[in-house]
Amino acid sequence: SSTGSMIVVSNRLPFVLKRNALTQLLERKASAGGLVTAVAPVVIQSGGLWVGWPGIHLNNPNEPIPESDPNDKTPTAGLLSKKVVSVHINADVFDSYYNGCCNGTFWPLFHSMPDRALFSADNWKCYYDVNQLFADKTIEAFDKLIAEQGNSAGTPLIWIHDYHLMLAANWVRQVAEERDLRCKLGFFLHIPFPPWDIFRLFPWADEILQGMLGNDMVGFHIEDYCLNFVDCCQRRLGCRVDRKALLVEHGGRTVRVRPLPIGIPYDRFVQLASNAPKVMLTNQKIILGVDRLDYTKGLVHRLKAIETLFEKYPEHIEKATMLQISVPSRTDVKEYQDLKEEMDQLVGRINGRFTTYNWSPIRYIYGCVSQDELAAFYRDAAVALVTPLRDGMNLVAKEFVACQINEPPGVLIVSPFAGAGEMMHEALICNPYEINAAAEVIHRALTMPEDERTLRMNYLRRREKLHDVNYWMRSFLKAMGSLIDEDGDEV
Ligand code: UDP
Repeated sequence: SSTGSMIVVSNRLPFVLKRNALTQLLERKASAGGLVTAVAPVVIQSGGLWVGWPGIHLNNPNEPIPESDPNDKTPTAGLLSKKVVSVHINADVFDSYYNGCCNGTFWPLFHSMPDRALFSADNWKCYYDVNQLFADKTIEAFDKLIAEQGNSAGTPLIWIHDYHLMLAANWVRQVAEERDLRCKLGFFLHIPFPPWDIFRLFPWADEILQGMLGNDMVGFHIEDYCLNFVDCCQRRLGCRVDRKALLVEHGGRTVRVRPLPIGIPYDRFVQLASNAPKVMLTNQKIILGVDRLDYTKGLVHRLKAIETLFEKYPEHIEKATMLQISVPSRTDVKEYQDLKEEMDQLVGRINGRFTTYNWSPIRYIYGCVSQDELAAFYRDAAVALVTPLRDGMNLVAKEFVACQINEPPGVLIVSPFAGAGEMMHEALICNPYEINAAAEVIHRALTMPEDERTLRMNYLRRREKLHDVNYWMRSFLKAMGSLIDEDGDEV
């Protein structure tokens, strides 16, 4: 049977709703992320639907979703309100589900930082209930498709995203089976999947695995995460598994597990970099960091490496400057408030130690920057420091490379503990835990000959151009068996 429409299910809709303070009307605010850019066109073209939370708690959940602004040029502009199924969640339940379970438990645990994880049965209950609600809404979306398209709907493809919704597939599958509705279920995890000895710390680990195995295909960024998942299924649930073929048998079905490394909208970043004005009026070599302010990003280690750099190699004083952009994130969670404090103090201490009349070692921006400014920073930086302690993929590394259109180019430094570090072989690899070695790597980057920089950057750019976010989208469809190959066979 032909592949039909795509129903995407994600914690957030591909836009957020805001209430206009003057008119009191709801308005859409578009999101510009690469994921939305790649996936929204497929949903729209396939006549599909998007299920998600609209980013606001409404008193009246029946208040209609507005259409997009006529001037909106983003990919979701074409997503009509009747193609959106919004999930409304009680504010307190949402807080326990989102800040509590998702970001207080799964985020640290899946990044292998169990000491930071909270384990709460109440939060887990809310997570469970919210996942059930998303499953109900997905079925509602399914019914809507059938009502609109009848038999021409083909076999709908339901694509569930990320650690917020690891349980939803099972309920969707159950209802679909009871009602004899055909569909294909796929899941993609955007963060790492931890090894068994970390995963087993979660008291309800078996329910997570069973939830994920409700899908026909489960995708992760890299093979390591796939193998961790397969291992957990075998050890916790006793599933029969095939490590080579990445298959898990469960409940009489075989679930495919696939590495599907996400890419970026490469051409868009090249465009942005070509058009962005020069924003940094400086003859300094810029060492750039761009991160959400998150403890997984290794920001404290990074600043200490910068401090060591200026201590051991004073020739860089007044010649190089670290520009760190830290985007405020999850400010309701205590761990993040503490990190903000720690960073403020550390920046102050290092700047106090090295600043001269005309120069400071660190420029620290706590806030968002626009895409144009970001592209200009990426383009004009001499070195990008992407040194997370753990990161599912890390798009900043890829965006930097895409924007490096100046000749000669700069140097990428990447941590081996980011998914991106797995494939960007021509970058300088840096273990963020080893502060002295990290300072050495930064020094090497600052002094690297031009021809070596060019050689490395050419390889990096070629790979990211080829494996962009549209390639990822096609890989997902292929992994679902929903893309027809050149010979006309389902792959
Ligand atoms: N970014 C942004 N605004 C900023 C700085 C960064 O939107 O002020 C974007 C950046 O372009 C990138 C994303 O945030 O696409 C960060 O993705 P990444 O995978 O590096 O880390 P995550 O935040 O998802 O953990």
